Amino acid sequence: MSQTEWERLTRAAGSEELYVQESGRCPLLVNGRCRVYPVRPMICRLWGLTKDMACPYGCEPERWLEAEEARQFLRAAEQLSGGRMNGIFPRSTAHLARRRLAQDALEQVRG
Ligand code: SF4
Repeated sequence: MSQTEWERLTRAAGSEELYVQESGRCPLLVNGRCRVYPVRPMICRLWGLTKDMACPYGCEPERWLEAEEARQFLRAAEQLSGGRMNGIFPRSTAHLARRRLAQDALEQVRG
C-alpha cells in the first residue's frame, strides 16, 4: 500500500503496531468489521470488484472491473503518495496477496 494510505490507516487505528496474525487475518478486522473502513486502502476497496478477488459469499458488482482497471486504481493510490510505498500491510493481508490479481498488482506497483 502507499505510504499515504498507511499513514491514514494507522492514524485511524490509533497505532502503527499492526501485527500480522498467524491466521493471515487482517489485524484491523474486529468482530467481523473493519476498524478503519472509511480510510481502508485501495487494495481493500478493490476486494469483490474483480473476478480474481470475487466475494466468497457470492456478492457481485453491477460491473466487474478488469484486472488492468484494478491496477490503474492501485497505481493512482501510489501516485497520490508521491510513489512512496509501505511494505507492511501487504504481509498482513496475505489472504488477498495469495490471489493472482493482488500479487500481480502489488508487484507492478512496487516496480
Ligand atoms: S483487509 Fe482491509 S477492509 Fe479488511 S479489515 Fe483489513 S483494512 Fe479493513
